[in-house]
Amino acid sequence: MTTEIETLAERLKHFADARDWEKFHTPKNLAIALSVEVSELAEIFQWLTPEESAGVMESVKNADAVKDELADVMIYLTRIASILGVDLIKEANAKIDRNEVRFPPTP
Ligand SMILES: [Mg+2]
Repeated sequence: MTTEIETLAERLKHFADARDWEKFHTPKNLAIALSVEVSELAEIFQWLTPEESAGVMESVKNADAVKDELADVMIYLTRIASILGVDLIKEANAKIDRNEVRFPPTP
């Protein structure tokens, strides 16, 4: 069964192939691109108060900007994981498993 992430990864591979961008998609470049996109997401919230940040999706302009940057983050995260052969869902669940042991629930 193909997951949605696998389908997205395949679409991104085709997108890069069709533009001869595979040569740019090194792990180093993709890690930097991912970091830049996370920073672009953070920039939206940079000077907002906690209350303003909680209501960021109430403004269509801000909501569109948040969705756009989250999409960029997802794209680069999916792409670098694909290039490195990492199963994101498997590794995220394994990390949560470790964190459940590391940080026990509050009694
Ligand atoms: Mg961006």
